[in-house]
Amino acid sequence: MKVRNYADVTDRILEALRKSEHLTVWHQAYTTSTYPLYCLRYTAEQKSSPLIYVSAGIHGDEPASVECALRLVELLVDNDLHNLSPFPLNEYNWLISPCDNPYGYERDIRENAAGLDLNRMFETPTQCPETAFIAESLQRKQCMHPQNTRNNTIRKKGKIELALDLHEDSDSNGFYLWERRTSQCLPIGNAIVKNVVALCAINQEPSIEDHRNENGVVTLLDQVTTKGWTRGRYLAEQVNTRCLILETPTHLDWETRIAAHLIAIQTAVKHAL
Ligand SMILES: [Zn+2]
Repeated sequence: MKVRNYADVTDRILEALRKSEHLTVWHQAYTTSTYPLYCLRYTAEQKSSPLIYVSAGIHGDEPASVECALRLVELLVDNDLHNLSPFPLNEYNWLISPCDNPYGYERDIRENAAGLDLNRMFETPTQCPETAFIAESLQRKQCMHPQNTRNNTIRKKGKIELALDLHEDSDSNGFYLWERRTSQCLPIGNAIVKNVVALCAINQEPSIEDHRNENGVVTLLDQVTTKGWTRGRYLAEQVNTRCLILETPTHLDWETRIAAHLIAIQTAVKHAL
């Protein structure tokens, strides 16, 4: 049964595209004729600014992630809000994939129409239209700049410097995040939790899905395979970028979850770049 309408998401995307020439469609594809998928590109005035990838809604029953991604898009295209915002989001380049599982989103279910958990399908992303779309969005970026390599320390135009995958957790009593990074990369998870705690409780369980949780931060260092072929692993191994997977507790109220995601994004950008 449908509980949400994906057309509301696409309407907001199209409205944002009309509002600003800084926002363009980076990649578009269809899962079926009823579900166009969008990856949007926001280009800052300063084109050499770092590029951040934000994705949401790969699990359809995590709707605050989608709402947060849409609000981020709307914040970026609203010039009046830039002056009021305490954080200059519009000074960065963004790739935003706001709703990666429209079928699940409309029905409030984790899986896609084929009953698959899309966030386990990235070993061979071409096997599902949704994961193929995500991989194409990311690889399109890389193909334009084939000089990028894992060990480049100089900022290369077009390289994704930070990836943020937005999720929710119905079993969690508080916010937490997965921090997937190389051992050379300085951790920023604690700084994010420190800012989120003002808005929302933090998950203090000693372990989450058999991984050690330290005050809301679960670190996945270098090549971690225990989570399966998630988007985070794909980003780490195929795109060579650090990735934070943000999780808000689904049982909390709507605006708290969105605010927690937004402050986490801002803090991540501030500390990572
Ligand atoms: Zn999820």
